[in-house]
Formats: sequence, structure tokens, C-alpha cells
Amino acid sequence: MNKTYAMTGGATGIGAAIKQQLKDQGHTVWVVDIKEADVQVDLSTAAGCQQAVNELARLAPEGLDGFIPCAGLGPAARPNSLITDVNYFGAKLMTEGLRELVAKKSGAVVMISSNSAPMAAHDKELLAALEHDDRNTAADLVNSRVNGAQDAYAGSKLALTRWMRTETPSFAAQGIRINAVAPGITITPLTDAAKQDENVAQAMADFAAAVPAGREAEPAEIASVVQFLLSDAAGFCHGAVFFVDGGSDAMMRPQDF
Ligand code: NAD
Repeated sequence: MNKTYAMTGGATGIGAAIKQQLKDQGHTVWVVDIKEADVQVDLSTAAGCQQAVNELARLAPEGLDGFIPCAGLGPAARPNSLITDVNYFGAKLMTEGLRELVAKKSGAVVMISSNSAPMAAHDKELLAALEHDDRNTAADLVNSRVNGAQDAYAGSKLALTRWMRTETPSFAAQGIRINAVAPGITITPLTDAAKQDENVAQAMADFAAAVPAGREAEPAEIASVVQFLLSDAAGFCHGAVFFVDGGSDAMMRPQDF
């Protein structure tokens, strides 16, 4: 059956693979992105997110079977606050803004977290700023720190994932299943840029070399787990975080789950 999905970040990388897999199954996919999109907006601003929500309500008035907020920036993006703006505020605003449209069809939301998220667990200051929607404090923190880009990346993904889990019951009450995929290092333009960034290149190389599976992921390998979480086969999955990372999280945190 033809279904209607909306997603952000469908132009390249993991998002492009998600879009392609959905289209290959015959579904309608509305893509929001800063480039090559049905709705071309900058998701780093609240105004851009609102514009995208309004446009999707016009394109899919009957509702959405699913939404995937995949747009994101890696630790090579500058200023560092652009990372928190897109990865946390953009993803959250879009998900909140579309929840009524997804509820209309009792649909599914799949957030894109990261296996780097748990690394920010100690960063109480940044997490508090994000969780209180305090963009200015979050921006000041990540823009003033030596490792601010990595902090912004991991902090955004942890805060977003915690928000997803906190909201799981209220989404379930609306008939919406919300889950997250936490990819490990995946071959995309985001990681290509990070591998060439002098501040993070070494950390990326070390991380890639340590993946238990012995390689980096292809975008389609992340996208296929997103498909599963969107599908009826995942009908009892609510609030789950699926690590799709070649075993890295299990290696780093074997006792935590
Ligand atoms: P990518 O750079 O290929 O894709 C990111 C997409 O987001 C692009 O289409 C880009 O145009 C869009 N985007 C960026 N800034 C935007 C903005 N301001 N407004 C609208 N759209 C914007 O990267 P990717 O690796 O495919 O990343 C996709 C998601 O997966 C991101 O959320 C990323 O954090 C996450 N992720 C990636 C990896 C990895 O190793 N590649 C690992 C864990 C999580």
C-alpha cells in the first residue's frame, strides 16, 4: 500500500538512502532539506522549521504515515552552535510541529541519534541548556570550548534521544510510535568532512579503526533499520534506541543498556 512519509536531510548520505528505499517500495516521500528538496529551508532556525511544517501540512493534509528527522551536521561544521541548532533544535521542532499530522495516520517517527550520544552523559551544563530550549546558552557553551564541536555533536544527539524517550508515552497516547536509530561511523559526506577536519580527523580515524565489525557502515545499512522501525513489523517498538554501529557501543559500554 502506498504510504506518505516526510523526512529531513534527504539530499545526501543516510537520508538519501532512506528516501531511496521508501521510494523503491512505492511510497510518497516529501523531503525537507537545505538543498535538493521538495521543501527547501534552513532547519537551523525556528522560522525555517515552522516554514517546513506549514509546507508539509499543505502537501500532506491527510496526514503522515511516518516522519524521519535525519538532517544533521557533523563536528566539522562551523560555528559549533550550528550543530546544536540543526541536530537538536531543528529535529525536535520538526517532530513537535508534525506530531498532529503523524497522529492522523497513527504513524511512526524515527529519530537519528548517534553512538556518540552516550559520550555526552557527563556534560550536565550543555544538556541542561538544550533540555530547557535555551539556544543562547547552548551556543555560548559550544562556541567557547576547545572541543566544542564534538561536545555539540554528542550533546545534541544525547539530548534529542532523551527527549524522544521522555516523550514516548505521550506520543504512544496519540497512537504514534517513536524510536531512534543510533548509527556508528557511516560513509557519508558528513564523515568525509570530519575526516579532513584538523580538530577531529585523528579521533575519527581512531574510532573507525576500533569498530568491532572491522569496517564503516554503508548508508543503506542504517536506512534498512529505519525501514524496519517505520514498518508494522516494529508494531510494539516504542522509545527504543537501536545501535547500528558494528558493535562499537557494546565494546565501549558493555555493562550499560
Ligand atoms: P550528510 O551530510 O550526508 O547528510 C545530512 C543532510 O542534512 C544533508 O542532506 C544536508 O543537506 C542536510 N542539512 C544539513 N544542514 C541542514 C540545514 N541547516 N537545513 C536543512 N538541511 C540540512 O550526513 P549523514 O552522515 O548522512 O547524516 C545524516 C544523519 O545521520 C545526521 O543526523 C547525522 O548526525 C546522523 N549520523 C551520521 C553518522 C555518520 O557516521 N555518518 C553517524 C551517526 C549519526
